[in-house]
Amino acid sequence: MVRTRIAPSPTGFPHIGTVYQALFDFAFARRHDGQFIVRIEDTDQARFVERAEEKILEALDWFGLTEDESPRKEGTYGPYRQSERLDIYKKYVHELIEKGHAYYCFCTKERLTEIRAQMQKEKKIPRYDRHCRTLDPQQVQQRVDAGESYVVRMKIPDNETIVVPDGLRGEVKFQSAIIDDQVILKSDGFPTYHLAVVVDDHLMQVTHVLRGEEWLSSAPKHILLYRYFGWEAPQFFHTPLIRNPDKSKFSKRQGHTNVSWYQQEGYVPEAILNYLALMGWTHPQQKELFDLHEFISLFDFKDLKPLGPIFDLKKLQWMNGQYIMRMKEEVLKKKIVAFYADKHLDETIVEQSVPLIKERIKTLKDYYDIAGFLFEAPTTYEKDPAEHRQLVQAMIDRMQSVQPWQADVIGEAMQRLATEKEIKFGIFFMVLRVALSGKKITPPLNESMELLGKEECVRRLQSLA
Ligand code: GLU
Repeated sequence: MVRTRIAPSPTGFPHIGTVYQALFDFAFARRHDGQFIVRIEDTDQARFVERAEEKILEALDWFGLTEDESPRKEGTYGPYRQSERLDIYKKYVHELIEKGHAYYCFCTKERLTEIRAQMQKEKKIPRYDRHCRTLDPQQVQQRVDAGESYVVRMKIPDNETIVVPDGLRGEVKFQSAIIDDQVILKSDGFPTYHLAVVVDDHLMQVTHVLRGEEWLSSAPKHILLYRYFGWEAPQFFHTPLIRNPDKSKFSKRQGHTNVSWYQQEGYVPEAILNYLALMGWTHPQQKELFDLHEFISLFDFKDLKPLGPIFDLKKLQWMNGQYIMRMKEEVLKKKIVAFYADKHLDETIVEQSVPLIKERIKTLKDYYDIAGFLFEAPTTYEKDPAEHRQLVQAMIDRMQSVQPWQADVIGEAMQRLATEKEIKFGIFFMVLRVALSGKKITPPLNESMELLGKEECVRRLQSLA
């Protein structure tokens, strides 16, 4: 049975990198009739952010990557929030102590700072000096019983090569000499990430772990913990860091790491998923556009490439435009109405405008730039129509006689007027377009005029004549 998971920490906004991982986890689990789990790793209480968990789950829903098990969808392996599993971790920490793979450490912060400084002075890699690893077991028990503050550290073996099998890079080797005797239980009774992730992935029967390569250096500690417990480790896939087109790190400073940025900018989730799927993976027929359903039928972790994926917003914009263009008009209408909920757009106008604009917008946010004049008269003009007062007056007069008020009829009447006045169509229609919309570029003009209605067109022109 395939079981995948994301294990986000609720420390901020929902990150697009989390969605990237969720997409692969979700697709792989679906393809194999397995389960996709969300476990909340909230062991770092200092970094806890209110509502972060809720926002992560909402983001998954928005993308259609809703999980099978999570704090809001309890399965048989809960609880799914680490802060609710403290007793479980304690039990396993004690097991490690009893087996001699972990030890109590009573060193104070001051002492740790001191040895760190000393080692730095000696140009050594700063590490814990294992002072408490050799304390007398009886004394240790007495100090624990007396209520002295402690942490628990795992023992890292001397001079061993620890092999991390990684589905993207093969065997990655680490020398134990550079690994610290990692704290696994903190003085506040909370486990550290390393212990909790191993215990939970095991107890939740996770089979495949996909995560960012920033966790690769932690993996040898995890491999050791699996060995100490006598458990089989899941398969690991550490994905390369996402980069900007100039190869710099895809950082938080640019808003576009935050899922809500995409929502505000009018991207549609289907396009984002399609785009993310192509970062590190290629379609067997080199297709660029495919939906989630198709991706699920094709995706395998083993086809991921260990190459730094580039996040190119221009490409995503293009893809978003492609999705909008191909979307059912009814669906696009609903998305536009929802996107501009606070403007309370007239739904009939939105509906009628959709065929005119769907090939011209890349994001939902482009809609109002191009179609806003259908809802409100312009207040600024990209070209001054006042220069053409007489022509505008002639247009008004001609409009009065257009019957019925239909795009083709309007178009013919206006062309006739231009011909009579011996004005080039280019100039004539530019004047008309700017006068009605304020803009030099709009959706097809005749259809837009039909939509606006005769009265409104005349009113707008009159304000200029
Ligand atoms: N809690 C870690 C994070 O925030 C999870 C890392 C992992 O997937 O093991 O990314």
